[in-house]
Amino acid sequence: MVHVSFPYSAPVSQTLFDRASAVTPGGVNSPVRAFRAVGGTPRFMVSGTGPYLTDADGREYVDLVCSWGPMILGHAHPEVTAAVQDAVARGTSFGTPGEGEVALAEEIVARVAPVEQVRLVSSGTEATMSAIRLARGFTGRAKVIKFAGCYHGHVDALLAAAGSGVATFGLPDTPGVTGAQAGDTIVLPYNDIEAVHEAFHTYPGEIACVITEASPGNMGVVPPAPGFNQGLKDACAKNGALFISDEVMTGFRTSRAGWFGVDGVVPDLMTFGKVMGGGFPAAAFGGRADVMGHLAPAGPVYQAGTLSGNPVATAAGLAQLRLLDDAAYDTVDAVSAQVRALVAEALTKEGVAHRVQSASNMFSVFFTDREVRDYAGAKAQESFRFTAFFHSMLAQGVYLPPSAFESWFVSTAHDERAIERIAAALPAAARAAAEAEEVSA
Ligand code: PLP
Repeated sequence: MVHVSFPYSAPVSQTLFDRASAVTPGGVNSPVRAFRAVGGTPRFMVSGTGPYLTDADGREYVDLVCSWGPMILGHAHPEVTAAVQDAVARGTSFGTPGEGEVALAEEIVARVAPVEQVRLVSSGTEATMSAIRLARGFTGRAKVIKFAGCYHGHVDALLAAAGSGVATFGLPDTPGVTGAQAGDTIVLPYNDIEAVHEAFHTYPGEIACVITEASPGNMGVVPPAPGFNQGLKDACAKNGALFISDEVMTGFRTSRAGWFGVDGVVPDLMTFGKVMGGGFPAAAFGGRADVMGHLAPAGPVYQAGTLSGNPVATAAGLAQLRLLDDAAYDTVDAVSAQVRALVAEALTKEGVAHRVQSASNMFSVFFTDREVRDYAGAKAQESFRFTAFFHSMLAQGVYLPPSAFESWFVSTAHDERAIERIAAALPAAARAAAEAEEVSA
């Protein structure tokens, strides 16, 4: 076993964070990066190679965040880097159609059977926002069903009982979203199909769509109960609503065809992001051709973007997807299984109540002895134990998501050396979790 120990402080990151806090709200450009849920100084990263990140203080970490999912081949993969360099040299944005975006759309359509047509955008938020607008335009209805703990980006109408950063901060809602914007959103408990039937019964002819994370990762990993996604699809079909499966996180990660490749449930619309951008801002929504045909300029529902289908982003995404063959998924799945087993073993040894929950190679650790099936279950865990666990891992050079409500991500680049470093850090982290005490406010 490799033995690693790091000093705890991060003076250069702290200096950068102080500078950042003067010019950027909270010092970060996306809330969960600020370490507010776990405390301490967020690490400012300067480079990444394979499974490793190096921070501004010169310390190397095994990365179990992988940019929140996209870096499924590890950092700075040579073939993705070469594709990006080649694209950049030919110009970075044209504002015209280009072949790269056609090729990326063809790759997505070829991989994910329910997607007959696809529109490229720049972020997962844009994808879900546009899919909701399209569903409303197509059905002529206003209401949207979403599930507590599912995060679909910071779309106004969907920032009700969302997971991710919102779960971390325990914001019941966010100021700035008006009653009118959220008023057509019906929030139901996850994995509760009866609640869905009831909602359709209560609002006949009013519900445009049901949107769900294909397999949620934003309240920690909480897979759908057997039959839940099919139940959603059937309820939508019966009531004239569209079923939108948000695969921004699971897409091209949980299998070649994302979560669709795992459970085979056919949505009307799907959303994608993260892996398909190869580390660049590229995302997409797609699905039934008759529904997608309602989008401008083919149809009346407006949607657009200056940088949509950007040539550099599409080159990165296409290069990454083309490298993601069955063998690559086998590797990521095997790495995930190894890390999950090591974490469970270490926590069990220290007598720490925990559940390691997974959806294909996505996984997270809940500090509870009960299976987590919904957001209420996720919130009931002893997250103070995660804080102690997180900081011990960080001090030993393993970078975990800085929140107990997030999925952990691994890549094809996590080799034996990286896994040994994780294994070496776990006993002390498990002990720290065992010894942690809740501090009352
Ligand atoms: N949908 C899901 C399931 C996500 O996990 C995320 C981001 O984490 C989004 C949508 C929003 O994507 P983005 O952060 O690219 O706007």
